[in-house]
Amino acid sequence: MSNLSYVSPTDDSPWGTYLSQVDRVVPYLGNLARWVETLKRPKRALIVDVPIELDNGTVAHFEGFRVQHNLSRGPGKGGVRYHPDVTLEEVMALSAWMTVKCAAVNLPFGGAKGGIRVDPKLLSHKELERMTRRYTSEIGLIIGPQKDIPAPDVNTNGQIMAWMMDTYSMNTGSTSTGVVTGKPLHLGGSAGRVKATGRGVFVTGREAARRIGMDLNGARVAVQGFGNVGGSAAELFAQAGAKIVAAQDHTGTIYNANGFDLADLIPHVTNTGGVAGFKGADVMKSEEFWDVDCDILIPAALEGQINEDRARRIKARLVLEGANGPTTSKADDMLFERNILVVPDVICNAGGVTVSYFEWVQDFSSFFWSEDEINVRLDKIMVDALKKIWDTADRHRITLRTATFAVACERILIAREERGLYP
Ligand code: NAD
Repeated sequence: MSNLSYVSPTDDSPWGTYLSQVDRVVPYLGNLARWVETLKRPKRALIVDVPIELDNGTVAHFEGFRVQHNLSRGPGKGGVRYHPDVTLEEVMALSAWMTVKCAAVNLPFGGAKGGIRVDPKLLSHKELERMTRRYTSEIGLIIGPQKDIPAPDVNTNGQIMAWMMDTYSMNTGSTSTGVVTGKPLHLGGSAGRVKATGRGVFVTGREAARRIGMDLNGARVAVQGFGNVGGSAAELFAQAGAKIVAAQDHTGTIYNANGFDLADLIPHVTNTGGVAGFKGADVMKSEEFWDVDCDILIPAALEGQINEDRARRIKARLVLEGANGPTTSKADDMLFERNILVVPDVICNAGGVTVSYFEWVQDFSSFFWSEDEINVRLDKIMVDALKKIWDTADRHRITLRTATFAVACERILIAREERGLYP
C-alpha cells in the first residue's frame, strides 16, 4: 500500500484511506497518471521537539509536526491541530486532503497541515502560549506568507493564530499578517472566517439537497462534533428550517425529536465546553447516535468515525462531511451501495480554506471586505465547484468523492507537469 519507510498505514487509517482514494482516481487521469506517485508521498515532513517550562517549574516535551504534501499550485495551506492522538501519519493525510481540497475549489495553494501531540485542556493559558510560540519558532524554517500558511483546526483558534503571527513576526523582524489565517479581526483577520467552514458545509448541503429533491424545511439533521464546524453548520441549517435532532461531542450525546433550540444550545456549549448537561434534550448512549432517524448526517469531529458497521446503520439520505476523513473507504462503499449520498470532505468543508484565501489576499492588499461580500463570494465558489464535480460524477458514473479527486488531481498534476522536474 505504501512504499514509504516511515509510516505503516492500514486500510482504515487516515493515510491508508487517502491512498485508496488516490488509487480510485487513476483511471480518470489519462496521461497524467504517470505523475500519480507525486500524490502518494509528502514533499516535506518536519518533526520538531517542543519543550516548554510548565507553570510548576518542570519541563515538558511535546511532539510537533508540519507536513507540506504538495506545493505545485502555490504555497502550502492547512490548519494546526492540538490533540493527544496527533501522529505524523495523521498529519500527512490531513495535508494531502488539503492539497486536493485547495485544487477542488481552484485556490492557488498547495496542501499542508501541522499538529502537536498534546491535550491542550491540560495546559494553562500561559503554557499554551509558550507551547504555541516554541512550535511556531521550530516550524518557522518552512512557513511564511509565500511558503506555507497555517490556520486553525481542532482545538486551535484565533488566539493561537495571533500568537503564531506574533512569534513569526518577532523572528523575522517585521509584522507579517499573511503568515497565518483565521486571525482575530483587528490583526488582519477576515470577516466571516470563523463560521466559513460551517457555511461551506451548509452551501454544499443546500445544493445537494436541492439536486436530490430534499426539502431543508423540516429536514432532520444529526451532527457529530459541535465545535467550530458542526456548531456553525447546525445554526445555518436551523435558520433554513431544518431541525437539529441529535448532537454528539466528546462530552456526550443528546437527542430531541422536535429539534434543539440552538439559541439555548450554542451558549450552553460555549459556557460548559460541550453538549452534555443540556436541559432541552434527552441523553443517548454514544453508539446510538449512528442509529438516529434523520435525513442529513454531518460528521464534524475527527477521522474514521463512519466505519463499515456504522455505515450499515445510518438512516440519513445525505452525509455532509464537515470533518476531514470521517469515512473509511469500506464504509464509503457501503454508503454508496445503500444509495446514501456523501458530499466528501474535500469539497464539503472547503469553505474554511476559501475564506482563508480571502483573508490572505486582503492581508496583502491591506484592504478589507465586508462580511456580505465574503459570504457572496464564498457561496459562488462553492456552488461553481460543486457543479463541476457533480457534472464529472454524472459523466463517469462515479461518486462525488472520486469526482472531486478527479477534478482536483488533474489540476495538481497539470501544474506538476508544466513546472517540470527540477533539476
Ligand atoms: P473544534 O475543536 O472546534 O471541534 C471539534 C469537535 O469535535 C468538538 O465538539 C469536540 O467535542 C468533538 N469531538 C472530539 N472528539 C470527539 C469524539 N471522540 N466523539 C465525538 N465528538 C468529538 O474543531 P473544528 O475546527 O470544528 O474541526 C472539526 C473537524 O472539521 C476536524 O476534522 C477538522 O479537521 C475539520 N475542519 C475544520 C476546519 C476549520 O476551519 N476549523 C476546516 C476544515 C475542516
